[in-house]
Amino acid sequence: MLDLIAESRCLGCDCASPASLCAECAAELEAPLRALPTRHTLLTHAVALGAYAGPIGTLVRRAKFQHDLRAVGLLCRSLDAALAVGVPALPDAVVPVPTTPWRVAARGFHLPDRLAAIAAPHFGAPVVRPLRRRWGPAQAGRTYGARLLAGDGLFSLAHPVAGHVLLVDDVVTSGTSVHAAAAELLAAGASAVSLVVLGAAGPLRRVPVGIS
Ligand SMILES: [Zn+2]
Repeated sequence: MLDLIAESRCLGCDCASPASLCAECAAELEAPLRALPTRHTLLTHAVALGAYAGPIGTLVRRAKFQHDLRAVGLLCRSLDAALAVGVPALPDAVVPVPTTPWRVAARGFHLPDRLAAIAAPHFGAPVVRPLRRRWGPAQAGRTYGARLLAGDGLFSLAHPVAGHVLLVDDVVTSGTSVHAAAAELLAAGASAVSLVVLGAAGPLRRVPVGIS
């Protein structure tokens, strides 16, 4: 009985909402992919579903830290729909940014793995896993300077790669992990590295992307 009268809340902003997302949060998740500036980066293209500060960040935290399968489902469906509208590049391989095996074991799943599996069919490219995450302290809660220092040597290489590689991650904040991964892939033989993330910190250029 309590369940029947309990007020349901939006998973993105916690407002009272009969649906799992309120109209505002749903609109944020239905927006086209946004291009991120790649000047002074190792990336050829970078796109995000939206801002980490908004409902996308809330859903990512629910998915990762509370293992909320409704949040995982909403994020996966949004990425799938956004990629169906337009893709930033045509990669030869899709690479989820890895975490440590013990963190995967603790969480029971790795969100970038799920996202890579969603993304790959849009490009007709295989999911490959050439990177291994070296052991190190968690990135969350560290300062920007500490993250930059930690970036070098974050990953090791399991096998070489070729062609244009698309990295897939859940969030990009300082960019340390993504740049360390891109550097390893370029050194390993990739001709270019691009990025798709769900949530990006900082200002985003609101430019719809797609292959014309
Ligand atoms: Zn909401």
